[in-house]
Amino acid sequence: MMADNSTIEVFREKLAEKGFSDLAKDLRADEAMKAHTSFRVGGPAQIYAEPSSTDEIVALIDTAKALGLPFFLMGNGSNLVISDEGIEGLVIRLGENFSDIRSEDDPEDPDSVLIYATAGTLLIRLSSFAAKNSLTGLEFASGIPGSLGGAVFMNAGAYDHDMSEVIEKVTFITSDGTVSAFNREDLDLSYRSSRFMKEGGIVCEVVLKLKRGDAEEINSQIRTYTEKRTKSQPLQYPSAGSMFKRPTGYYTGALIEQAGLKGFSIGGAQVSEKHAGFVINTGDATAKDIDDLVSHIQKTIKEKNGVELQREVRFIGRGFN
Ligand SMILES: Cc1cc2nc3c(=O)[nH]c(=O)nc-3n(C[C@H](O)[C@H](O)[C@H](O)COP(=O)(O)OP(=O)(O)OC[C@H]3O[C@@H](n4cnc5c(N)ncnc54)[C@H](O)[C@@H]3O)c2cc1C
Repeated sequence: MMADNSTIEVFREKLAEKGFSDLAKDLRADEAMKAHTSFRVGGPAQIYAEPSSTDEIVALIDTAKALGLPFFLMGNGSNLVISDEGIEGLVIRLGENFSDIRSEDDPEDPDSVLIYATAGTLLIRLSSFAAKNSLTGLEFASGIPGSLGGAVFMNAGAYDHDMSEVIEKVTFITSDGTVSAFNREDLDLSYRSSRFMKEGGIVCEVVLKLKRGDAEEINSQIRTYTEKRTKSQPLQYPSAGSMFKRPTGYYTGALIEQAGLKGFSIGGAQVSEKHAGFVINTGDATAKDIDDLVSHIQKTIKEKNGVELQREVRFIGRGFN
């Protein structure tokens, strides 16, 4: 690995040689990741990029590989705890720069519309685009603060619905850097899991199939979901949503509450008083506080109930992986 201060300059040169000089100029060194995560924790990324096309993502990955630098890809940072020591190598964030939505009538089904969206598009924006166009199928996603790519990767869902119901096709970059596509059947989508989680790959563009519906009904369903969320979740605090996957036969929140851990805190990390399945940042939490608290919850529930709680939130960066 190269010395730190020269790494970004060499990275810029290599990217410019490939014809990506604008992207090269926009690279940032030591970008504070707490600004890009919903938990508001995380140290610096050695090199940080927000590409705006699939070609730019491929160029970034090729360059990182050529320089022997590890890379990590993120979306909206709403399912992440990034280490206080930050992330070594390149962080690629798919956000606003990579968020186009367009729709087309489905040539095979007059009752459906196909939506083409790039991976950085926020799910909340997609859901509202669908509602505005009287399209049904994405109401469940109206309160999930992730990007479309992150939602495909996690097979995000809520209220007994998930992304697998609306995805038609995904264009992605394979782990060896080539662009490929899969139809829904090939994506191995199951509860908070996809093929990308097991095999790697970067989701670039997604085709969603939505049904024509009634605007009034769609908006009313979204209002109902929003009320439920506001009532039951500690949305005024930074968090990454539910910390754990749902264990078969149990409710995570109830297990944690019965163990007497509601409100329990380590440093600035606390088990939410409102929903014990959420760990929140009360203001000055570090990633270590969150990690310690989550380990404590896992150990307590294992001892009391014999249940192994699995983390749904991903812990990334120096010291975590
Ligand atoms: C208040 C709150 C409520 C939430 N409610 C829900 C909910 O109801 N249901 C639910 O499922 N989740 C929920 N979440 C969690 C989170 O929003 C989802 O898991 C979301 O899908 C994560 O997307 P992201 O873009 O933020 O991904 P990130 O957090 O940026 O990344 C998560 C993982 O996805 C990978 N990834 C991201 N983009 C891509 C891509 N383009 N290609 C390949 N891999 C990628 C990353 O490498 C990482 O491993 C909630 C979070 C919060 C803060």
